Amino acid sequence: MTYQVAAATHRGRKRPSNEDAFGFSVEHGVYVVCDGMGGAAAGEIASSLAVDEAMRLMTERDGQPMREAAEQAVCAANLAIYTRAQRSSKLSGMGTTLVSLVVEGSQAWILNVGDSRCYRLHEDKLEQITLDHSLVEEQVRLGRLTSEEAARSPLRNVITRALGTQPHVTTDVFEMETAPGDLFLLCSDGLTRELSDEQLARMLSESESLDQLCEALVAAANESGGRDNITCIAVRVTA
Ligand code: CA
Repeated sequence: MTYQVAAATHRGRKRPSNEDAFGFSVEHGVYVVCDGMGGAAAGEIASSLAVDEAMRLMTERDGQPMREAAEQAVCAANLAIYTRAQRSSKLSGMGTTLVSLVVEGSQAWILNVGDSRCYRLHEDKLEQITLDHSLVEEQVRLGRLTSEEAARSPLRNVITRALGTQPHVTTDVFEMETAPGDLFLLCSDGLTRELSDEQLARMLSESESLDQLCEALVAAANESGGRDNITCIAVRVTA
């Protein structure tokens, strides 16, 4: 099983800076997207700290099982941001989402905190693997809001879990077997707020090169408004 990757990030058309961050290592089978929050530069610091710390610990695992190393890396990234925020009033309250795909052979794990997402295109069907930790999506899952109401809600930006805001964090972990032809997409909400699942499914299934796909996704999100920073990593599984 081999994996190919491309990634893109863009400030979008409305935000003054890009608080998203991403990292990957094909050699180590590690892919991470983070979407930071906090005033001034705090969001950028939180997301880049999370990517750096998670990448470092997941790639230096030294024989430790992949899933265990990945879960510990997310906890360590959480604590690194939390500790840094405690030391500076300017950074107080900063946090970040994290969505990560880690692979070993045909085994894949997806780790998630917050409302960045992982999708998989499998046998031409797009499935959203992660569940958003956001106030409105939790209400949708409970049947108290429709998806349309959630998309319009003034509370749609409120996330219920983040890295860095508490000393401990609970991470969702999804485990699956990958198959040749599978295409994974990790992305921040600046992409998924602008594009429908139908649009995403069409663009992923029609994609030829991963570089072109990532560029096209960013361009489409910008055309649709570009109200937030946009980041995506596309990972294709080949035999
Ligand atoms: Ca965002």
